[in-house]
Amino acid sequence: MTKVVNVGGILLGGGNPVRIQSMNNTKTQDVKGTLEQIARLRDAGCDITRVTVPDMEAAEALKTIAKESPIPVVADIHFDYRLAIEAAKNGASKIRINPGNIGGPEKLRQVADVCKERGLPIRVGVNSGSIDRKLVEEYGGVCADNMTRSALEAVKLLEDVDFDNIVISIKSSSPKLTIDTYRLMSKACDYPLHVGVTEAGTLKEGVVKSAVGIGTLLAEGIGDTIRVSLTGDPVDEVYAAKSILKALDLTTGGITFVSCPTCGRTEVPLIEIANEIESRISNLPYNLKVSVMGCAVNGPGEAKESDIGLAGGKDEFLLFEKGKIIRKLKAETAVDEFVEEVIKLGEEKSQAAR
Ligand code: SF4
Repeated sequence: MTKVVNVGGILLGGGNPVRIQSMNNTKTQDVKGTLEQIARLRDAGCDITRVTVPDMEAAEALKTIAKESPIPVVADIHFDYRLAIEAAKNGASKIRINPGNIGGPEKLRQVADVCKERGLPIRVGVNSGSIDRKLVEEYGGVCADNMTRSALEAVKLLEDVDFDNIVISIKSSSPKLTIDTYRLMSKACDYPLHVGVTEAGTLKEGVVKSAVGIGTLLAEGIGDTIRVSLTGDPVDEVYAAKSILKALDLTTGGITFVSCPTCGRTEVPLIEIANEIESRISNLPYNLKVSVMGCAVNGPGEAKESDIGLAGGKDEFLLFEKGKIIRKLKAETAVDEFVEEVIKLGEEKSQAAR
């Protein structure tokens, strides 16, 4: 069991739910744009976001961003310990640094002291591209052993200045290397682990790599907080992270969407219909499993585990709940009616649970 770390009121580690993180891709100096994006991230289900702090102007902007953000904001710092100190003073809920490149033990101590005074954790962020060249030469290349060693050495730098409110990330763009490294790290310490496949790529490729890397580790009980890293809208990172957690039953609440792959029996434009329904219901707050199936022969049976479902027929659809057919829906109004039924059922279940 990992230790518990408090990031602006969100507890990480120690068996707490796996937290979803993302990172703004706005200019931090653009306070309005950054806050707008944070609101979208929060609405999508993001627990914690991170902003880059490359200069004092960004550190100053963080004051308003942290104050007005509805979710904790982590400051991402490279090289300059003064920016880390300023970000901590300006309301960041966590600081992400590589302790090995912040300017030496004295400067690291100053960062650690300010974080300690404010109860802020520090994420030790190491990735495959930034590990010590000597360690790379010693092992003949980047591998799980030297990545883990590099991260543990960075952690030791913080422990040496009496700081242990730590989260660790050791990411690689290779899912396989990420998996191997976090497996080693989870045995080597009990600090909470921030898991992700870094620079995973665009939406299509990046989601698959992240699902493999993050999903494998979470299935083994490794990982306290996750970030899917995509070249694109960070809101998509949050949707992907939620899907990974749902696939492993690591989250409660929200819609679990099931749809069939279609086959020769399909007589409705199921691909468009499934996409439209998914986009309209995927963000609803109800804890429901929803199915959209191509035919009435196998549809209800295949989806009998679902709370509510739609099965295509010839010019009509069948609405079913828990595998039992409830009524027929006309093809032209089926999507709207089905979405209404999902909301109605979600409301009923929510009220019954209160
Ligand atoms: S549910 Fe029906 S249409 Fe969909 S794949 Fe199965 S048999 Fe084919």
